[in-house]
Amino acid sequence: MTDAPGASNSAAGTLYVVATPIGNLDDMSARALKVLSDVALIAAEDTRHSIRLMQHFGINTPLAACHEHNEREEGSSRFIARLLAGDNVALISDAGTPLISDPGYHLVRQARAAGIAVVPVPGACALIAALSAAGLPSDRFIFEGFLPAKSVGRRSRLSLLKEEPRTLIFYEAPHRILECLQDMESIFGAERPALLARELTKTFETLKGLPLAELRAFVEADSNQQRGECVVLVAGWTAPADEDAVGSEAMRVLDLLLAEMPLKRAAALAAEITGVRKNVLYQAALDKQKDH
Ligand code: SAM
Repeated sequence: MTDAPGASNSAAGTLYVVATPIGNLDDMSARALKVLSDVALIAAEDTRHSIRLMQHFGINTPLAACHEHNEREEGSSRFIARLLAGDNVALISDAGTPLISDPGYHLVRQARAAGIAVVPVPGACALIAALSAAGLPSDRFIFEGFLPAKSVGRRSRLSLLKEEPRTLIFYEAPHRILECLQDMESIFGAERPALLARELTKTFETLKGLPLAELRAFVEADSNQQRGECVVLVAGWTAPADEDAVGSEAMRVLDLLLAEMPLKRAAALAAEITGVRKNVLYQAALDKQKDH
């Protein structure tokens, strides 16, 4: 059962938000095909693009445009009117999941406000596909969509994300991928782990995971890597290890040695055994003596 913020309108049809493939047509789900065949109308980001997909699957449902420029006002009201009249409508974008860096937000919001049931029909999504195969922490992540096209705006957005601990996911246009990686390298640092996921599910699918400086060099050296569709993932920030912290194991070693020899000698030997700096252990031993 799907809720809606407005009073639910039982006479109205349902708006299905249907994911389509991001390359490989075999990723079209059986449920998506059924819904797209059964609805009265398909709201599509680009009807000329989607007509080819529908022809491929033998779907004859009428298509109507629901793109960035018309969906905010009259575009959405046209679909809302059909839904309120009892017709089921499916929303699709050119590829992947609608609303994810694609149109549909205004239509979905208006439908829910009108008490119309909105049902997701999940499937391909480039950011999720990339994350699922990246080997970067996936328990918490943030999706930043497209970065600003100009370097000044891009660098200021990246600077805000410099100490973000969650895995970062970006969409990027192929002609900007190199500049984007250059800016990431200079702001996040050369060593930060990253991954470029290019042409997912397609013939030239590439997933390349490297520290940012090496990933930038890899893309710079091969112009083929500057083509096709891409997702960039960057590991979240981790606080540098505190080299001067005396862990419990180093403290245990120091305690044992202090019982057997003078403080200076114990600190030097503990430093050799544990790798913690001698001065730090010496200070820890002094603090310990003060406490007693
Ligand atoms: N709605 C789509 C989704 O669910 O992923 C995203 C649409 S957005 C307009 C297009 C961007 O998604 C591309 O510029 C690229 O960053 C990413 N993308 C889409 N398909 C991709 C693919 N097959 N491989 C890599 N990235 C892809």
